[in-house]
Amino acid sequence: MMIVMKEGATQSEIDAVVKRVRSVGADAHISQGELVTVIGAIGDREHVANLGLEGAPGVDHLVPILKPYKLASLEYRRGVRSVVEIDGRKIGGDHFATIAGPCTVESREVLLTAAQTVKDAGAQMLRGGAYKPRTSPYSFQGLGEAGLRLLSEAKEETGLPIVTELMDVRDLDAVAEVADVIQLGARNMQNYSLLTEVGRSGKPVLLKRGLSATLEELLMAAEYVLKEGNNDVLLCERGIRTYEPSYRFTLDLMAVPVLRELTHLPIVIDPSHAAGKRSLVEPLSLAAAAAGADGVIVEVHPCPEEAVCDGPQALVAEEFDMYLRKLEAAAELAGKTFERV
Ligand code: PEP
Ligand code: MN
Repeated sequence: MMIVMKEGATQSEIDAVVKRVRSVGADAHISQGELVTVIGAIGDREHVANLGLEGAPGVDHLVPILKPYKLASLEYRRGVRSVVEIDGRKIGGDHFATIAGPCTVESREVLLTAAQTVKDAGAQMLRGGAYKPRTSPYSFQGLGEAGLRLLSEAKEETGLPIVTELMDVRDLDAVAEVADVIQLGARNMQNYSLLTEVGRSGKPVLLKRGLSATLEELLMAAEYVLKEGNNDVLLCERGIRTYEPSYRFTLDLMAVPVLRELTHLPIVIDPSHAAGKRSLVEPLSLAAAAAGADGVIVEVHPCPEEAVCDGPQALVAEEFDMYLRKLEAAAELAGKTFERV
């Protein structure tokens, strides 16, 4: 239930409503708009309705949120899109951001070269996994803590905020120390205890859609993070499994306009993991930006043929500058702005 306060409602009226909501065991999430405060009462709908808050001092009206996800819904924010700010880089609303870098942190040289390249081209954030979810237990699993140290060095050198994956809650503290955004991979989208802990960490989260997850399931996963009071969630479509065998996954670009109707959260597209093939990455990126995505996360490597993983889909570092110019033109078409760093 959304409790919309009157314009000019006092702090003590707001506090009194929050107290009554909590008295029936519901959570109260306060959202301070420009003119009015909205209190999201999340819990047993009947208990909240029985409080009879309609006539309470300072309360304007009540609106039920019919969707199973509440805090993630566009109605909860009354149509206002969230802008997530990461170390001064904005994403969401009218702001477009590019997250770029190698699939995995494989060596100091590769990481620092890639980081400098994407920074020089104007990308806003650096990606790179120190912990890698691999289909085969015999494949390279990531450098772990040594990889985190290299990421922190790359941040020191370039100033780019770091986006890196957390797979296991036991690594949360180490990852949170280095990451500006914690990536939760497609295979962990429904790892609810991990979502809750990352929510509690307060770190911005890039939440990837599971390979066979519906958009509603993605939004319910985001709700786990939001419920912990962590509002900085970026949703990421990275391709879903379909019957089409000629590419790795099917990039669900329809998710962009549909999610924009359902949620206020920023939407990021990962063309690299969907495509699995370099030649497809640029057209998919341009389509995503033109469709209204708030950002792209893309793999870039100085020498893809030598990459430890996902080389065939990595953009060649030398060509990244041109790619980014085209991407930004497509984002502009959709009315977005971006700040070069
Ligand atoms: C990644 O971005 O490094 C990754 C493993 O992606 P996904 O979880 O989407 O497969
Ligand atoms: Mn990869």
